[in-house]
Amino acid sequence: MPLARRANLAFSHGEGPYLYGLDGRKYLDFLAGIAVCSLGHAHPYLVKTIQLQAEKLWHCSNHFRIPDQEKLAERLAERTGMDCAFFCNSGAEANEAGFKLIRKYFDDSGKPERFRVITVEQAFHGRTLATLAATGQEKYTKGFEPMVDGFDKVAYGNLNEMRAAITRETAAIMIEPVQGEGGLRVASDEYLRELRKICDEFGLLLFFDQVQCGVGRTGKFCSHEWSGVKPDIITFAKGLGGGFPIGVCLSTRQAALGMTAGVHGTTFGGNPLACAVANSVLDIMFMPGFFEHVHHVGVHLRGQLSQLAAEFPHIIMEPRGRGLLAGFQAKVPNTDIVPQLRANGLLSTVAGDNCIRLVPPLIITETHVDEAIAIIRKTCQEFKASV
Ligand code: PLP
Repeated sequence: MPLARRANLAFSHGEGPYLYGLDGRKYLDFLAGIAVCSLGHAHPYLVKTIQLQAEKLWHCSNHFRIPDQEKLAERLAERTGMDCAFFCNSGAEANEAGFKLIRKYFDDSGKPERFRVITVEQAFHGRTLATLAATGQEKYTKGFEPMVDGFDKVAYGNLNEMRAAITRETAAIMIEPVQGEGGLRVASDEYLRELRKICDEFGLLLFFDQVQCGVGRTGKFCSHEWSGVKPDIITFAKGLGGGFPIGVCLSTRQAALGMTAGVHGTTFGGNPLACAVANSVLDIMFMPGFFEHVHHVGVHLRGQLSQLAAEFPHIIMEPRGRGLLAGFQAKVPNTDIVPQLRANGLLSTVAGDNCIRLVPPLIITETHVDEAIAIIRKTCQEFKASV
């Protein structure tokens, strides 16, 4: 099905933050498979893990214990302050598990009328029917009505609207602490703290979708760590497998009370191969200084983008994002800029609000940032010349 707007470009291989095109050119990859290849391409440690695990065991089903899955669950739980994990293969599936957990929690608590989840405008939570309803943007939902019931929408960052939207049917609040697809908008620490207070006051579950902004991308393992808030549910996917598909829904023991044997399940989720890779991703990320490095490089990128914004005010409106979930709002159509950046050797993508999104591998250095900035500068000059 011709669902993807594909560039006419294919790659033979990758190494670190570079991809090598079949066109004979080398590209600096600030797209990273849409915030997925967190350790870059063909990371030797991940390559070794896959080779070793492929010779031992790929898949055996969740009918049996999977030691690497148990290890991964324990490490994620310890790092996030959660207690329970459900593994799957994508962000949408992880969010679906979160929705089912929410409904089951309230049903088991004798409050089946509480099933509605409040989400925010310009959110992106996935493409399955329930995650589409949670996303609630017309450009994704049109033609797929009727939407799954149970999702209400308020403005991002608006606490008055949030409070006003709570009814006797509300069960949870769900938010990306940093929006990816929606336009690189960062929830303030204060906003996240207030959401926690509201959830406590009304007995709601707080659900942070960390599929894009988590797993180190903002310079902390979870982007909400900056605020000190502890949610009840967290989902990860994308960067967790460094390019190998894996997702997870984590929650507190209390919230997962209803998730007992047979209530939910998956064939592929959390198989030995996926978990071995994710454990190896964590081996690298949990080394001292990894997240500080991401933060440091992210600050450098932000500074360089601010400088470009000052140089090209008619093209760059404002830098956005946090850490290496970064980019800028553009004044010329972002769909014109991305191909031009690519022609100049830099891979990127678009985001809402006419943004250019830069989500490079987390192992990049300031030198790679400078290389990217030089390409963006050249591209801005070309746009300037054509205006
Ligand atoms: N949640 C967020 C915040 C995302 O950015 C995405 C994908 O971009 C998803 C969920 C859906 O993840 P997937 O495409 O792996 O289903």
